[in-house]
Amino acid sequence: MARPLAKRDAQTSADAPLPFAQTADEVMAAQQVALDSGLSATEAASRRERYGPNRLPDVEHRGAVMRFLLQFHNLLIYVLIGAAVLAAAIGNVIDAAVIVAVVVLNAIVGFIQEGRAERALEAIRGMIDPHAAVIRDGRRVDVAADDIVPGDLVLLEPGTRVPADLRLVRARNLRIDEAALTGESVPVDKTVRPAPQNAVLAERTSMVFSGTFVANGTATGIAVATGPQSELGHISALVGTVEKLTTPLIRRMDQFARLLTFFILAACAAVFLFAVYVRAYAWQEAFMVVIGLAVSAIPEGLPAVMTIALAVGVQRMADRNAIIRRLPAVETLGSVSVICSDKTGTLTRNEMTVRSVVTPEGVLDVSGVGYSPQGGFTDNGAPVEPGTSKVLTEAARAAILCNDAELRHSGNDWLAHGDPMEGALVCFGMKAGFDPELLRKQLPRTDEIPFDTEHRFMATLHHGHEDGSAVAYIKGAPEQILSMCDRQLGRDQVEPLDADDWHEQTAFTARHGQRMLALAMKRLPKGTQDLAVSDVSEGAVLIGLVGLIDPPREEVLSAIQECRSAGIDVKMITGDHAATATAIARELALAPEPQTLTGDQLDDIDDTDLPDVVRKMTVFARTTPSHKLRLVRALQVDQDVTAMTGDGVNDAPALKQADVGVAMGRKGTDAAKEAAEIVLADDNFASIVAAIREGRTVYDNIRKVIAWTLPTNGGEGATLIGAIAFGLTLPMTAIQILWINMVTAVALGLTLAFEPTEPGTMTRPPRKATESLLSGTLLWRICFVSLLFAAGAFGIFFYAIERGQSVDMARTMVVNTLVVMEIAYLFSVRFVYSGSLTWRGMLGTPAVLIGVGTTVLAQLAFTYLPPLQSLFATEPVAWQDGLLIIGIGAALLILVELEKAIFGVFARRRTAAQETAAEETAA
Ligand code: ATP
Repeated sequence: MARPLAKRDAQTSADAPLPFAQTADEVMAAQQVALDSGLSATEAASRRERYGPNRLPDVEHRGAVMRFLLQFHNLLIYVLIGAAVLAAAIGNVIDAAVIVAVVVLNAIVGFIQEGRAERALEAIRGMIDPHAAVIRDGRRVDVAADDIVPGDLVLLEPGTRVPADLRLVRARNLRIDEAALTGESVPVDKTVRPAPQNAVLAERTSMVFSGTFVANGTATGIAVATGPQSELGHISALVGTVEKLTTPLIRRMDQFARLLTFFILAACAAVFLFAVYVRAYAWQEAFMVVIGLAVSAIPEGLPAVMTIALAVGVQRMADRNAIIRRLPAVETLGSVSVICSDKTGTLTRNEMTVRSVVTPEGVLDVSGVGYSPQGGFTDNGAPVEPGTSKVLTEAARAAILCNDAELRHSGNDWLAHGDPMEGALVCFGMKAGFDPELLRKQLPRTDEIPFDTEHRFMATLHHGHEDGSAVAYIKGAPEQILSMCDRQLGRDQVEPLDADDWHEQTAFTARHGQRMLALAMKRLPKGTQDLAVSDVSEGAVLIGLVGLIDPPREEVLSAIQECRSAGIDVKMITGDHAATATAIARELALAPEPQTLTGDQLDDIDDTDLPDVVRKMTVFARTTPSHKLRLVRALQVDQDVTAMTGDGVNDAPALKQADVGVAMGRKGTDAAKEAAEIVLADDNFASIVAAIREGRTVYDNIRKVIAWTLPTNGGEGATLIGAIAFGLTLPMTAIQILWINMVTAVALGLTLAFEPTEPGTMTRPPRKATESLLSGTLLWRICFVSLLFAAGAFGIFFYAIERGQSVDMARTMVVNTLVVMEIAYLFSVRFVYSGSLTWRGMLGTPAVLIGVGTTVLAQLAFTYLPPLQSLFATEPVAWQDGLLIIGIGAALLILVELEKAIFGVFARRRTAAQETAAEETAA
């Protein structure tokens, strides 16, 4: 892949210096943009006009005609077309026409439904279109990646997907994962230094390329090539794969349907020979019967209906804020047995407020709501004037300066832009009397160490205008900050640090569910321009602690209860303090008495013991992303199907390893989204549970489609084979069988793809991932119902003949009986977990009612409309016989329900026995 690029490079090397070989200033001058202000909005708009959107050309979609023709590209359909040709060849033009009608109708339904499903999937994908942070008009703004134009100053953070080819103008510890472009999996270092003019792509270290990911560090880059002009655009073969609407399960069922077709063809050949040589049928007649048999038994609608069930599920998940990125996840979701969830923002609201400030002078309570800077401080109920406490003032200054967030007033509300926790700190600083904008001008930042989950602190370097003094402000997890400090800020002077007391204070406040953060400062030699970790790793002065509340999301409580009844274990994995995390776990009722393990403790447990320990624990606190990977692996040892949430770039390996990786749509990085199977549009734990519910529903619906299609086809086939085997008059003609298939497969079978979630769905344990779709119970059901269908058909046929009715009348009654039985069985199949003979069961759903209504109308036309009577050789059925037919349908429903109840009792006993055995083994 790199070779053609290298060739292009060689061609351009003789030309004027390219951006990667120029200095950052030269590139900025060429692009007419300044580092502090970026482009203006109007200039950006006019450049967008000139250069077009920053998007690669869309994948070519197949044309409508091609998509329609592809509907016929299916073994099942080939068999039917072959049958039509043969029927026409022996002069049965009408039969041939009806077969063609079946095939075309099938194709039209498939074409419409597939088109709808593809459009829906595209719209769903659009929901996670990437965004990027750029500087425009001197402000950081979030724009759609499409809107980036050459000259834009783009800000990069860990986990960002680089949105265009950028020449770096500022970079700090920047490492880029270029696997998407070069296939190289080890991240490469990047700097602002110009690269040689003849550097090949992989050596252009002053450039970052569209489609690659920031593995580490931060940077600002100026866009020099967008959309098709980018290096990614040149390798267009890389992009533009259309995901097929399928999953492993559906592929297996497709294969099964194909296998079944071969089996049916073999059976047809046997029946044909038997009919001609043993039963002495005329070969033309035998041939038409065999065609009828093939058409009745081949489940031609099955693959399409299963696909539609899948698409309906994906759409419903999207409606519940769970966006599926990889379709097989829909299937896996149904068998999830453990969810490992982040705390902040997923279980909690991520709306933070500073509630307490702990200083050597005492503990202050902070009042106020949300991000509004109204509120004040009290000490044991007595108001405290902010200006009177030197430590409080210093804490507020640190909180504002060591901070990337901004609070903006919008309408009556104050909104935090940036990290909500940092927003809460700015708010706290304002309550203490500071104007953030002014303070940031007075003490401008010259360098920073960004926060990362590994070392859990952030530090910024500031300069006083007047004396040129340099001071670093530091904030982070208390344990981390305390290890960097040796003194603390007292009322009047700097005192030695009493670390034990601070640890105690941290644990005490954390036990109330508050998220703890320590603030510290360190004076550095005048003129210090750069800040390194070693500058602040010791000798800092602790200012104090702040405690923040982040209330749990209300809907999460019921979602967790739902998980419990559905046999799904929920574990919290957080970077937060153990005491804070345990308090929140208790509040959310994650477990009756949540057990907590810290990252350090986890490090002391080896891989063989880990699965046992992990099973017992509910909370994993002070963890880093690498712990997540170990946890998923430990859970998978026990065959647990694990869903894992994540947002940072370092979460990507755990998301990939998990059976269902779940990335946060709002606060998640592009790298996490790329690695995940699902993206949550609202970052909400409850949406994962909703997706699991839908996942179980999709699986159930696919099973219902199979449980309905196979025995109805089987029943028709069994009737024909029975007639030939016993040398009886055929109870229906080939063309009548075609009619049944044409009407019911579409009007009835399809409705099952739209079934809503059944009531018992989330009170059952998760389905075993290894469970076969065609379980023993389902196979038995297929045989049982097929026989009932055959019995019903023969029953009514002989009844009519006995009563002296014509063969045509008897056949009309058989066709109507079969259709009524299919309707009755549809009502039974709709409920897997409970009986169908309930008010709710009988009412159906709009889809079912439309399906049944259409079928009934079609049957009335088939039976009473003269043109159809002459086409299908039918006769008008008397109303008494009509009632009898309906009675047969009702009888079938009752019998199947009885069978379901008896099987249900056995299944429950078996599960109970298995559970007892498992408990005994565990004991
Ligand atoms: P979760 O994994 O549930 O989202 P979290 O957000 O609490 O957990 P981290 O983001 O890893 O986990 O944060 C861990 C700790 O690091 C926090 O408890 C806090 O003390 C500290 N911390 C978090 N964000 C910052 C920040 N921006 N600056 C400094 N320290 C921070």
